Amino acid sequence: MNETIYAPWRTEFILGRREKGCVFCTRYTRKTDRDDFILYRGKKNFILMNLYPYNAGHIMVIPNRHISTLAEMRPAERAEMMELAAESEVIMKQRLKPQGLNMGFNFGAAGGAGIRDHLHLHILPRWVGDTNFLPALYDTRVNSVDLPLTYDILLPGFEKLAGKMKACGRRKNK
Ligand SMILES: [Zn+2]
Repeated sequence: MNETIYAPWRTEFILGRREKGCVFCTRYTRKTDRDDFILYRGKKNFILMNLYPYNAGHIMVIPNRHISTLAEMRPAERAEMMELAAESEVIMKQRLKPQGLNMGFNFGAAGGAGIRDHLHLHILPRWVGDTNFLPALYDTRVNSVDLPLTYDILLPGFEKLAGKMKACGRRKNK
């Protein structure tokens, strides 16, 4: 117990054990965003809430393509992923008012990746004294806010972003 390293981004997306195929590709393809807790679809990446979050508001930026490393990403995919990380930072601060944030990747079994075949960038809002130490110590997932409620709190921020991106696209096309 006292050897536990505090690493909240080492989050397992354990749903994959119960589903056939890639859980991210399945959700990307079936377009039932509300049921699947997809918050945003970009041109090259989408944003999904973690169904087994370490903290309320735990989201992931995921490339649309089924790739497992940063090296496999095309420059435009990487650029959009970072852009969405920045937008998520802003939206999260506005809507969840955290006292901090964690962002990170896990690669491979030893890196703590729950889904190893499909890259994803974890973004976690943090509060001083939040419940994150519990899962880190006891492998217990604690959520002070439930998933649909957090989804509804975050969604307007991402809908606004979608509107902004659409407007940008229209300007560029002129
Ligand atoms: Zn996939």
